[in-house]
Amino acid sequence: MKRVHNFSAGPSMLPLEVLEKAQKELPNYQDSGMSVMELSHRSGLFTDIITQAESLLRELMHIPDNYKVLFVQGGASQQFAAIPLNLKKNGKADYINTGSWSKKAMKEAKKFIEVNEIASSEDKNFTYIPASFEVDPEADYVHITTNNTIEGTAFCEIPDTGNVPLVADMSSNILSEEIDVSKFGIIYAGAQKNIGPAGLTVVIIREDLIGHASAQCPTMLDYQTHSESGSLYNTPPTYGIYIAKLVFEWLKDLGGLKEMQARNEKKAALLYDYIAASDFYHSPVQEDSRSLMNIPFVIPNRDLDADFIKAAQEEGLETLKGHRSVGGMRASIYNAMPVEGVEALIVFMKKFAEANQ
Ligand code: PMP
Repeated sequence: MKRVHNFSAGPSMLPLEVLEKAQKELPNYQDSGMSVMELSHRSGLFTDIITQAESLLRELMHIPDNYKVLFVQGGASQQFAAIPLNLKKNGKADYINTGSWSKKAMKEAKKFIEVNEIASSEDKNFTYIPASFEVDPEADYVHITTNNTIEGTAFCEIPDTGNVPLVADMSSNILSEEIDVSKFGIIYAGAQKNIGPAGLTVVIIREDLIGHASAQCPTMLDYQTHSESGSLYNTPPTYGIYIAKLVFEWLKDLGGLKEMQARNEKKAALLYDYIAASDFYHSPVQEDSRSLMNIPFVIPNRDLDADFIKAAQEEGLETLKGHRSVGGMRASIYNAMPVEGVEALIVFMKKFAEANQ
């Protein structure tokens, strides 16, 4: 069977064990004579799936009891609107602008509230995470993007926002390391990197932030709708939730987030150390702000980018092209990327450097 090392930023690779289990269970799930895709979302079998998915996620992330887990649709992008529509009280919120996704979140929130950019790294092309900022104590919330998928930066420390709820877009680093959920008011993430297939969005929300949506908030964007119905107000993305459950089981079996973090740190260190030691490749990101998940690198002679991508592809190393707004290359090494994938990339990078130096 052909399997490549897929460095895509998302949708990205899933653990082979998960795909094989899903394949085995596809036509006849637990002797029901149906696939999960064909099961009613109100059936006992699906109730078990969604209940287990939630309890596994709670266990993996140590989610406190005063938080709800919601399985919704619309991607992380839909949350850009849902957040101001649900949290609007004083009508203003603070945003830390660390890249393209933060900007999109701000642009959408501006339709509903006053957005104050309290820090930005745009002055240096988003190659670092701003260290200092002042939170308006009257702000309805502070929004951050914990991992910047396109720029390859990440918050190494979670900012303290006092009594103002911290809202985090964790789309590209959820489940990659241990975090203290109690520091956040809301954590949200599109599934298509570390959780499962695109189409599912996970929202982890402190209970006291539910039930205050603006009058004009659409029913489907109101957190109360999904909280009251156990994410079954309408038909949820059932197959995505099933695959997420398999991914959570895979994570638990390998030792949970502590072990996953150790693996991710090891993989990222291998690549960053090689880039630092090389006089051919260069990392555009400031050292203290580097992401474990998305690692951009450039070759000073940009004319070689296309050759690099093509030659890498010939060796089974896929989707290494950097985002069109940044250029160069980007290796996304999410949870499902094995260390062997990173090692294979480094072997190729060495060979390419030698041939083109
Ligand atoms: N935020 C971040 C950090 C992302 O990486 C992405 C998708 N790549 C999004 C938001 C948008 O997510 P979606 O496509 O699920 O709307």
